[in-house]
Amino acid sequence: MKQVKIGSCVLSLIQGDITEQATEAIVNAANSRLAGGGGVDGAIHRAGGPAIAEECRKIGGCPTGKAVITRGGNLKARYVIHAVGPIYQGGKKKEAELLRSAYLSSLQLAEEHRLTSISFPSLSTGAYGYPLKEASLVALRTIIDFLSEHPGTSLREVVLVLFTSPDLAVYEESLTQVLKERGIET
Ligand code: ADP
Repeated sequence: MKQVKIGSCVLSLIQGDITEQATEAIVNAANSRLAGGGGVDGAIHRAGGPAIAEECRKIGGCPTGKAVITRGGNLKARYVIHAVGPIYQGGKKKEAELLRSAYLSSLQLAEEHRLTSISFPSLSTGAYGYPLKEASLVALRTIIDFLSEHPGTSLREVVLVLFTSPDLAVYEESLTQVLKERGIET
């Protein structure tokens, strides 16, 4: 499954580069110092230019499981939502709860700004080591539950952008699983 409609919002899974997405906001896999780094974070700052880091410096930081919003600089996206996922430490350090919270905080920020579209990368599954299958289930349950519980949401499009085709395949399988769990007809 690659696409599903939840209320008035379409949730899609695609393979691609998050920095190239033209949704109103893209989500960054940030660290709590908002200091920039490798992976998604490095790519966003390289493509978006120094204005993003400047705004991050003024904000100062963001706790794990939360998110902050800046402008998108030179990106196609007008905003970057910097979400801080957990570093995976075996699964007993509230990682699932913190990962859920990072997705949820991003969705809440998008909603507060009445954004219509947002793209997410797979938070925490790169340098932060979160097992992909488990992370995909957390990501999809959180997004689907948020959309189901907010029928009046401003969001019309939520995109999960997976960097590799094997990652996309894992997310596709998880989407089918979560829709079945939640009793959502497709
Ligand atoms: P974290 O530190 O939260 O683990 P990373 O940026 O290291 O974040 O990786 C998160 C996921 O994003 C990984 O699955 C990685 O393969 C993927 N990724 C890396 N670069 C990009 C990109 N430009 N667009 C989309 N996904 C990316």
